[in-house]
Amino acid sequence: MNLPPTRTVAQAIRAASEELGARTDSARLDAELLMAHALGVSRSTMFLQRMGDAVPTAFAGYVARRLGHEPVAYIRGHQEFFGLDLRVTPDVLIPRADSETLVEAALAARPKAKRVLDCGTGSGALLLAVLDGLPAAEGIGIDRSEAALAVAQDNAARLGLAQRTELRQSDWHQPGWADGLGTFDLILTNPPYVESAAALSADVRDFEPAGALFAGADGLDDYRVLVPQLPALLNPNGMALVEIGATQAEAVRAIGTAAGLESVVHQDLGERNRVIAFT
Ligand code: GLN
Repeated sequence: MNLPPTRTVAQAIRAASEELGARTDSARLDAELLMAHALGVSRSTMFLQRMGDAVPTAFAGYVARRLGHEPVAYIRGHQEFFGLDLRVTPDVLIPRADSETLVEAALAARPKAKRVLDCGTGSGALLLAVLDGLPAAEGIGIDRSEAALAVAQDNAARLGLAQRTELRQSDWHQPGWADGLGTFDLILTNPPYVESAAALSADVRDFEPAGALFAGADGLDDYRVLVPQLPALLNPNGMALVEIGATQAEAVRAIGTAAGLESVVHQDLGERNRVIAFT
């Protein structure tokens, strides 16, 4: 094979983004993020860089992984969420832009919240973004995965939020899971809500943790367990913000109504139902 002679950063990105175009509709962005990672600099300064000897090989390796559907966030080990740089590993769901809807709703609706609980915290994305926006608040993040909690702890420390963040191993499918937690002004959760692997792209299905995605035959198992327990965990003026799949609003509202909760549905940037606020 005839390898092209040494190319510029811009040329290498262009070639990679053409190759990636067959796999993803974010080919150009993916190629840029992977090049910045290979160079060890930010995207904004990478076009000023010369490619050192090791960069083309590292970049080619990252592009090959992406061609195999591995998400860019796992290749880089980082994902931006609500303006925060979070570390991510395959032990945690990659924070989605759609979930920023939940953070915005929480900050807008309860700007004076003091105690925050995040159920299924994963990387800590929701909890840390809310605590970052509410300097007087403190929060507890629970997860059944110890590996996820280690990632969340690292993120809390890196963001300077460890003093206000407590992370605990706990599983709401186990009786007594909420003993001793107390009550909260804000409860956040992005529980598993996918009904079948057939609904997912290969990027998600083959790489993200199944335990963070799947929730029974109709995707509602975790809502059935968690939502009826919210009234006992909320302060009198408290609010729970629950992420949902786009088609699940009516079903999840009904679970809340049966538990005596009032609800408002919020939509994401794509105008899909994404969050239910329960009070
Ligand atoms: N939004 C994710 C997806 O569809 C699912 C997240 C979840 O189950 N909580 O890929």
